[in-house]
Amino acid sequence: MSSKQDHNPLCVQVTYQHLKTSTFSLDVDLKLPNSGVSALFGPSGSGKTTLLRCIAGLEPNKQSSITLNGEIWQSGTKSIYSPAHKRPIGYVFQDANLFPHLSAKENLQFAIKRANSAQPIISYKDVIRLMNIEAILSQYPAQLSGGERQRVAMARALLIQPKLLLMDEPLSALDDALKQEILPYLEQLCRRTSIPIIYVSHSLDEVIRLADYMVVLDKGRAIEEGKTQSLLGKLGTSFSRYQDASVVVSGAVTRQEPKWGLSWISFDNQTIAFKQGDEKLGDLIRLRIQSKDVSLALSKQDNSSILNRLSVLIDDLERDPKDPSMIMVRLLAGTTTILAKITTLSAHNLRLEKGQTIIAQIKSVAVLS
Ligand code: ADP
Ligand code: MG
Repeated sequence: MSSKQDHNPLCVQVTYQHLKTSTFSLDVDLKLPNSGVSALFGPSGSGKTTLLRCIAGLEPNKQSSITLNGEIWQSGTKSIYSPAHKRPIGYVFQDANLFPHLSAKENLQFAIKRANSAQPIISYKDVIRLMNIEAILSQYPAQLSGGERQRVAMARALLIQPKLLLMDEPLSALDDALKQEILPYLEQLCRRTSIPIIYVSHSLDEVIRLADYMVVLDKGRAIEEGKTQSLLGKLGTSFSRYQDASVVVSGAVTRQEPKWGLSWISFDNQTIAFKQGDEKLGDLIRLRIQSKDVSLALSKQDNSSILNRLSVLIDDLERDPKDPSMIMVRLLAGTTTILAKITTLSAHNLRLEKGQTIIAQIKSVAVLS
């Protein structure tokens, strides 16, 4: 995090209960970076939507405090409360929520009229290009596919010229094929704009792809919080026990072999090969490594088909409390964390212990960006 982010974060302190009779209460005190994507991750009913609505000023909770870049949107102690329509926020919901009687273009014009025009952040042309919606502007919402509607909804949120974008499970109403179609647009939006984004999701996959920072909500409380990369590599968290426990490894492309269809990234004196895409030498690439795709060996086995074999240090081990047959091993490749989920019996047979140097064999990696 840069020092600017440290000094000017998005401060969200919310204490809230829907009704006096409600058993659900929200109580969080967050300092989020004021750029990039922060994910709110948690199971259904954990309070993600309620928290977004509080930030947007859509829930009557005057005792909470919300500040962005030193600009106070509300403060319980100072009796400041800026109403929802005065907050420079773009909101993207689960369903696109477009006006059905207006064409895509008219929906966008509606946002332009409402925009914070004093400080334009992104131009109309750039928004249309970013969401690739030029060809569908004259169509009405009913004539658009679910994915196209969601792209128009994202364009509309950007044209408000927001200082903060709130996205509430924007992909969850779409089927898998449409999700894959929209994700690249979302990634572009997240990487190309300077607007801080709070992205709500219950999909770890989306969070890993999009978020630099994450907060895990459970029963209205923030139970884990931190940079995505470091949080994923920790043991004893809800992630390390998660079915798809993974880490993200990033590095610049340092080698390409079109003959084999492979590229390599380098980090911490290590290299990892991955299937070549359209990346170029020098590009920064993030790879997702699932813990179940990492096995351990005491020595480098040259007779193995596995390409990615890294010399690593065992940093910690944790037995899965729900499944004693499995153990999670936290490995350090330099300063980069990798997780390996292996059987407890293998760990016993190999006599694994903290501080030991060992070979991590990575069976597959997925390119994130
Ligand atoms: P999430 O978005 O994480 O699924 P929500 O913020 O929608 O969770 O809901 C959190 C809790 O608040 C749930 O227990 C839900 O039933 C309750 N809740 C949500 N909206 C209201 C409301 N308008 N009135 C009363 N309770 C609500
Ligand atoms: Mg919700």
